[in-house]
Amino acid sequence: MTAFGSTLAPVMVSSRTQSGVFGAWQRHPADELVFSPAAHVLHYGSACFEGLKAHRGADGVVRLFRLPAHAARLRQSAAALCLPVPDADLAGGMIRAVVAANLGYVPATPGALYVRPALVGTDPTIGAAATASREALLFVVASPVGDYFAERALTVAVETALPRTTPQFGGVKAGANYAQALGVIEQARARHGADQVLFAPGGAVGETGASNVLLLDVARAWAVPADGSVLEGVTRDSLLHLARELGYEVREEQLSVDDLLAWAEHGEIALVGTAAGAAGVGTLVVDGRRVQVGGGAVGPHTQRLRAALAAVQGGRAPDHWGWTEPVRDDVIDDAAPH
Ligand SMILES: *Cc1c(COP(=O)(O)O)cnc(C)c1O
Repeated sequence: MTAFGSTLAPVMVSSRTQSGVFGAWQRHPADELVFSPAAHVLHYGSACFEGLKAHRGADGVVRLFRLPAHAARLRQSAAALCLPVPDADLAGGMIRAVVAANLGYVPATPGALYVRPALVGTDPTIGAAATASREALLFVVASPVGDYFAERALTVAVETALPRTTPQFGGVKAGANYAQALGVIEQARARHGADQVLFAPGGAVGETGASNVLLLDVARAWAVPADGSVLEGVTRDSLLHLARELGYEVREEQLSVDDLLAWAEHGEIALVGTAAGAAGVGTLVVDGRRVQVGGGAVGPHTQRLRAALAAVQGGRAPDHWGWTEPVRDDVIDDAAPH
């Protein structure tokens, strides 16, 4: 399979605002979008996104995972960027429609259809550096994906000086967050062969560029609080629920880099997010020093939780929380004109 997210399923949907109000969405080929070269997003970074997956179960049914949680977070991100906020119904309807229109592109597990809603400011005024974009485009594309990190344990460089983003935007899936983290990530890749960077400014463990961190051992599942400076990951939340159900002691508290290093002597560290599921960390690089985590391979508790999550997503384990929603190919007709 090609690189994660580089192949788009053929159909996308989009809705543009008029006077700040979203219109009916349209279905169209996922090949191009037209913007004014003066569009707000192209100059001032008014962009946010979501990422969720539709999984094909062994029973052949395609299920979206935690759509309402993702729609709610998209609305929070939109508000933080002073963009028009789409209704949960509009965003949800568009996401369902994209999956329904591309049902034939949902791969078998462990693959999935990765669904990417994005919202961008479209006001065509380059003078609007200090003005919110009144108009916006919401669009949803989908990409058939395989396993993000496969089975290899990751090397993670710990950045103890620089933050990932600003405190007020840590909880927002704003495109600019990712652009501003790239310099640190590229440098860690070049210097240490790191797959990811864990941002721990001032020694306080936060998260990586696009995933939360869980500490696991035979008895415990620990996370740092998703307190606004750390993104409130849906996968993080789901895994903590499953861990509790499996009898792990779940704790959310501040952790230092020293706590992390002490944990690495016996426990497991996992990076968790929609794209990766739960990826195991084999090596930490702290101040240039390489530290092996657990046995250096993906550990049994990471694998156990990952499997428990996949079982719910694939309809093979009971979904006590109402997280999954089947998608049929007739939902398109419920929606809007096209
Ligand atoms: C998307 C993202 C996550 C993971 O969130 P999920 O809802 O689990 O996909 C974690 N951290 C950052 C910075 C992210 O952008």
